[in-house]
Parts: sequence; C-alpha cells; structure tokens
Amino acid sequence: MSNLLVVGSMAIDSVKTPFGERDEAVGGSATYFSIAASFFAKIRLLAVVGRDFPEDTLNFLRARGVDLAGLERSDGQTFRWKGEYGYDLNTAHTLETRLNVFQSFRPQVPPAYKESEYLFLANIDPGLQASVLDQVKSPRFTACDTMNFWISGKREELLETLRRVDAVVINEAEARELAGESNIVRAARKVLAMGPETVVIKRGEYGALLFQNEHIFSAPGLPLEHIYDPTGAGDSFAGGFMGYLASTGDMTQAGFRRAVIYGSVMASFNVESFSYDRMRTLTAAEVHARYGEFSDLAHFERL
Ligand code: AMP
Repeated sequence: MSNLLVVGSMAIDSVKTPFGERDEAVGGSATYFSIAASFFAKIRLLAVVGRDFPEDTLNFLRARGVDLAGLERSDGQTFRWKGEYGYDLNTAHTLETRLNVFQSFRPQVPPAYKESEYLFLANIDPGLQASVLDQVKSPRFTACDTMNFWISGKREELLETLRRVDAVVINEAEARELAGESNIVRAARKVLAMGPETVVIKRGEYGALLFQNEHIFSAPGLPLEHIYDPTGAGDSFAGGFMGYLASTGDMTQAGFRRAVIYGSVMASFNVESFSYDRMRTLTAAEVHARYGEFSDLAHFERL
C-alpha cells in the first residue's frame, strides 16, 4: 500500500450554520483529510495539538490506521477556528482564528516519513508547507490546499509553495482571489501558470472542476437532502482525491477523473453532520455505493 503523508491543522472549531451550531468540536484540515484518505491509503499525519486535544479523536484516527508518529503534543492550546455560514454554504465566514500551538510549530518529518511517495500540504501556513516539501526526499506526487487567510496574509510564501507542487486543490472563491480573476476558467489557467500541472477547483454543492493543460473535467455535486455543516468538506474532498490517487498510482486522465469523484464522495458524506460525526460510522461499502450514485447521476449517452 502506498504511503500518503499529510501536514495540516488539527483544530477545535466552533461553527454555526443555518441548521445548528457546535461549540468546541474537533476539526482541522489534517484531521478531515486523514479520516477521508484513510479509506484508501496508509496515512501518515504531521501536525501539532495542544494538551486539550481530545484523546478520543486520536484513538479514532489510530483505529482507522492513521500513523501518528509525526503528531506533536505541545504545551498550550490547540489551534482554534470560529466560523459561520449563511444559506450560501459555499462561503465560510471566519469569525476568529487563534493559532495557539501553531505559532511555534516547526514540522519535523520523522526519518521513516522522508520517503513518502504521496504528499498533501493541507491548509496551513504556506511557510510550513514549504518546510515539509524541503524534508521529503522525492515524492511521486505532491498537492496543496490553502485559504483566503493565507492568500491575503502570506501571498509570496504561498506562490513559492505553488511553484513546487504537482497539484493544487482549492475552492472557487479562493481560486478567484488567488488569480485576481473572477471568471473561473481564466482563474484556473492563471493558477496553472503559477506552477501546478493539475488544478482542482471545489465548487461546494455544485461539484468540482479539474484542469490539466487543455483538459477540463466537471464533476457534479450530489443533490443531498440533508446538509448540516460544510466545514471540512474541502479537506475531505482532498482526502478522497489524494487517497484514491495514492491507492492506484494511476496518473492518467481517467485516473484523475475517478479521483475527483472519490473526493466528491467523501465531501458529500462529511457535510451530513457536524465535525466528523458522519465519518465515525461510514463504511467502505457506503463509499463505493455513493461513487456509483455519482456515476448514475452524471451519465448520459453521446449522440
Ligand atoms: P474546509 O475543508 O475548507 O471547510 O476547512 C475547514 C477546516 O479548516 C476547519 O476545521 C478549520 O479548523 C481549518 N482552518 C480554518 N482556518 C485555518 C487556517 N488559517 N489554517 C489552517 N486551518 C484552518
């Protein structure tokens, strides 16, 4: 089984959506990513938490086969994020970001992780993303995510990371902001020109777009009746996408298309509950069945 290393945030989130709210629940880009990706590949997690991070989540990750040798427990409080969504669930409004233990975090890739074949730089300070890139020897495939907080706050560092990765997985608003371009196709072209050969743009409930050279693939969004909390959808998407690529090693166009659908599958489950609640009971059989639903949903004959 291929190894997939992820660096990102592990967080305690307080989230409000039109359908409810949850205070101090586990979140974080690396948390959501690892859980989703663990359905496909062996995950190695590089992150930092404070003493207050719940042991229950660490046990759940271990039970899913996630390797926590790269997890640092620091004195101090875990990273905290407070956000709110209106009826447009595609846009998170950040109310508060407290870096806490991230302020002094310097990711150290354990020797056993340096040979990782697949690497995902989840949403985190782009300077930290670059330092992990420096430490991994010759990964077969690397990708990163980011968000508005870093696009506006650490643009130069982010551009440096983008020059060095094979793929970027970002949401629509972030792609526009990063490119300074409102048309999504032109924005994707501009992001491709920044370095990565693959650009995946997540469009929330409307699906996702994959751009590679002149090739474009459009994945549908699954019409869901119950959406409670979109937090972590992007990271779950990335987990399904990267996990599938790592599990098959298939870098053909068809392989990337399937990876985008597996990303969409994992995101669609995650939004069905707050935090990662839905993922606690999710089975591999349900994951593959939903892949079939996506296939049925988008299928039509060529005339
Ligand atoms: P998403 O998948 O885009 O909904 O990501 C949601 C997760 O991103 C939340 O669980 C937050 O804890 C985490 N997050 C929010 N802001 C930041 C940040 N500035 N750096 C790293 N992670 C963040």
